[in-house]
Amino acid sequence: MISLEPTEKQLTLQEHFRRLAVKRLQPQSIRIDVAKPAGVDPDYLAVIAEENLNAFLIPEAYGGKPLDWMSLAILFEELGAGCAGFAAVYAQTFHSIAALLIGGSEEQKKRFFPHLLPPGGRVASFCVTEEKSGSNTSSFSTSFSRKEKFFILNGDKEPIINAGKSRFYVVWANEEGTKNRAGISTFLIPAKTTGLGFGPYHDKPGFRPAPTAAVHFKNVRIPEGNMIGPAGSGYLLLMQILDWGRALGAAIAVGLARTAIEEAIRFAKQRVILKRPIIRNQSIAFMLADLVTELEAARALVWRACRLIDLGRDHTVASSMAKLYASELAVRATTEGLLILGQSGYKRPSLMDKLHRDAQAFRIAEGTSHVQKLIISGQL
Ligand SMILES: Cc1cc2nc3c(=O)[nH]c(=O)nc-3n(C[C@H](O)[C@H](O)[C@H](O)COP(=O)(O)OP(=O)(O)OC[C@H]3O[C@@H](n4cnc5c(N)ncnc54)[C@H](O)[C@@H]3O)c2cc1C
Repeated sequence: MISLEPTEKQLTLQEHFRRLAVKRLQPQSIRIDVAKPAGVDPDYLAVIAEENLNAFLIPEAYGGKPLDWMSLAILFEELGAGCAGFAAVYAQTFHSIAALLIGGSEEQKKRFFPHLLPPGGRVASFCVTEEKSGSNTSSFSTSFSRKEKFFILNGDKEPIINAGKSRFYVVWANEEGTKNRAGISTFLIPAKTTGLGFGPYHDKPGFRPAPTAAVHFKNVRIPEGNMIGPAGSGYLLLMQILDWGRALGAAIAVGLARTAIEEAIRFAKQRVILKRPIIRNQSIAFMLADLVTELEAARALVWRACRLIDLGRDHTVASSMAKLYASELAVRATTEGLLILGQSGYKRPSLMDKLHRDAQAFRIAEGTSHVQKLIISGQL
């Protein structure tokens, strides 16, 4: 039996980041949401530095202060409750750190982890998706070839969170002439590398505080020591990172759903129609009863996946279940939230409208809800 009770230390962490989410992230998120698309907001970079967030993911031997996975679930839920876009900026940095944790050599960890620790708020990018491949991660158009002691990369990745602001880019590519999983390798590309270029920032309906753009590789030349793991290990590495990442992506979705449900409850208690608060209508009260129940269920799935990771047990299906359920709940909670708020929520700026637009991205990023069902049903 897996225990899902948070410890005193985890509750203290939760309280600290809940305060940060409400006081700092949420107000900033409304401002950034209506701003022109640009790089990661300077105030968000300041939060990463002041809270030393990346240290929570990096082992002590490299200057970090790592948290266990249950604590990470709690942290990511609070960040998601404050601003899902901010949490996504951090999550993409986490994915890049995960690539090093799982497949990186001692030398690579020593060389790249310090890039993500203060001074300054620092981020990294995780470059998998291409315009043509999407959900199919078993081969890429981005290619690499060997030239003496170097690799040369060519291709394009899009959409990539933190593009243009990252300290380094973790990139998946096929060896020239190959078109299958066995030809995929993973590379570390430092920010200032010649041939690395970026497109304009996308104007997205949601997740606006998580800037995305295309990343271009034109004859990018990197030393052979920048390949993560042996040649051909890229596909397996990617699957392992996504198994971790989906559990934390689900935690962010739980945070967003929680904020939407709390906002709907607050409104339903205060909005008076026909001389009584609308929450006293069973139709509204039952919607909220369903949502708070589903929220508990989603959180339990996330915590279970994270406990399995802590225990070193198989967590692939548990992570996908958490991601699927929490993503769909985020969309449901914000859709019902918009109905409960009526016209008050259906104008801008409106927190519920923003949450609704952000929620849609959970069903797409890190493997769509269909892909999660493929993973879960594949194990039946
Ligand atoms: C806000 C945001 C940020 C992102 N950031 C990053 C990033 O930083 N780095 C990165 O690498 N990627 C990033 N992505 C890309 C994301 O991972 C992809 O969008 C995702 O993998 C799906 O690919 P696609 O959007 O091209 O959809 P497609 O693969 O084109 O799928 C289209 C539709 O077909 C369905 N479909 C496809 N194949 C199947 C199948 N076999 N069975 C059933 N249904 C199927 C999908 O579920 C979907 O409904 C981001 C996406 C978003 C929305």
